[in-house]
Amino acid sequence: MLGAEVIAVGDMTKDVWNTPADDGAYDVVVVGAGAAGLSAALVLGRARRRVAVVDGGEARNAVAAHMHGFLSRDGVAAADLLAVGRAEVAGYGVDLFESRVDQIDPGFLVRLDGGATLRARRIVVATGLRDELPAIPGVRERWGTDVLFCPYCHAYEVRDRPIGVLGTHPRAVQHALLLRQWSHDVVYFAHDRDLDARERRQLAARGITVAEGTIKRLVTEDDRLRGVELVEGHVFPRSAVFVFPDMVPHDTLLTDLGCGRDDDGWVNTDATGRTGVSGVWAVGNVTDPRALVITAAGQGAAAAFALDHDLVAEDVERAMRNHVPSAQASRHAPRSVPQPVSSD
Ligand SMILES: Cc1cc2nc3c(=O)[nH]c(=O)nc-3n(C[C@H](O)[C@H](O)[C@H](O)COP(=O)(O)OP(=O)(O)OC[C@H]3O[C@@H](n4cnc5c(N)ncnc54)[C@H](O)[C@@H]3O)c2cc1C
Repeated sequence: MLGAEVIAVGDMTKDVWNTPADDGAYDVVVVGAGAAGLSAALVLGRARRRVAVVDGGEARNAVAAHMHGFLSRDGVAAADLLAVGRAEVAGYGVDLFESRVDQIDPGFLVRLDGGATLRARRIVVATGLRDELPAIPGVRERWGTDVLFCPYCHAYEVRDRPIGVLGTHPRAVQHALLLRQWSHDVVYFAHDRDLDARERRQLAARGITVAEGTIKRLVTEDDRLRGVELVEGHVFPRSAVFVFPDMVPHDTLLTDLGCGRDDDGWVNTDATGRTGVSGVWAVGNVTDPRALVITAAGQGAAAAFALDHDLVAEDVERAMRNHVPSAQASRHAPRSVPQPVSSD
């Protein structure tokens, strides 16, 4: 679909009476085609808005074979959910571009990798986040398979089995206390983080074993995790390990536009995803690390709802400026002279 320097709107046959000027701009450009971005595009496409979605890579959970916790879709392949979503939005005339967005200029001009540009009245940024993992051999390789993060997404599948929690993050102890919900056999690997007295008491009270010592590697065999090996040589047999990653939002497009961050480093939005910059919305993991797939999809839909109202308000203002009231119009219009009805 790419090629031209400025890409015109794909479907010019669409009834565009509700947009102020057919200047080739999209009503909305959505950056990111995960659950959040596609959900926003679906609602906007159904609202007969001219929408482009640009996506330049993989959704965060693409490494996982199955997705859980999405009512009516529990256990489907993550990729299948997104493929269905893409087909649904395309059915409403939404244009999909496979490309990265490098920059968004105020106003808005969306600059794609390779030089093409899209003009837009409004922007939805749904670019997700990046999980930074500890540099322990085996963690990256097994990520999304038997090295897991979200208990609500994957702990049920390893319930009652030997679980490990890697003590590589300040929130790892809380993570272990939580995971005890799913298995009676949880080992907390202290690694290079010191536990304070309260943390030790909490773990002991929950029946969680603490393995002291630095982790050397995860042991795998026949494409399955077998255990966690410490530097001193002991191997703890484990079926799955959980690790709390550092979550880094893909929010440069937002901060470059002037969107502010909160004290925890996440871009500020209101309940509809509206940022502090007029015309810019942000939804899903890019602003909310706790958003599951269904939450991200809900945020996308809520943003689309609010954003369409914002566009309608602008459309009404513009229409009123261009509107000639009928009384005034009739004074200037040529008078129509009634004709007698012929009696012939
Ligand atoms: C291993 C793993 C398993 C998970 N399993 C589950 C599960 O079972 N159930 C569940 O509910 N949640 C699960 N999650 C969480 C889930 O991944 C997120 O809830 C979900 O991906 C958030 O959707 P999103 O649309 O905000 O972001 P994403 O799905 O990450 O989508 C963002 C999209 O934006 C694109 N993008 C980024 N930057 C740009 C750019 N500059 N230009 C163009 N495109 C860009 C990316 O390529 C990506 O396609 C899991 C997470 C992980 C890490």
